[in-house]
Amino acid sequence: MPRSLFPPDGGPSEDWPPDYMQPPRVADRNRTRLAGHALQHEGKPFEDGGEGNWSRTYGAAGRGVCECGEASTVLASDADRKRWHKGHKDEVRRA
Ligand SMILES: [Zn+2]
Repeated sequence: MPRSLFPPDGGPSEDWPPDYMQPPRVADRNRTRLAGHALQHEGKPFEDGGEGNWSRTYGAAGRGVCECGEASTVLASDADRKRWHKGHKDEVRRA
């Protein structure tokens, strides 16, 4: 029997409507993932290890690296690198 789109007997409850029927929240839309463009290590800093390799650094400053190979300039914090990555994804979407 197909799942009912209407509340079970007893009417609306705290579980109604279910999450999958809710419109997306603005915060979720801003965090939309883009296939092939994951920010590596959630914005942890990397440095150019040469020969196309990126290696993790353990200071605060470093480059953000995207899954596609794009890298930021040296930025001071994870938050800066996340901001860079958000802009990078926006550019990819516009392209
Ligand atoms: Zn990318």
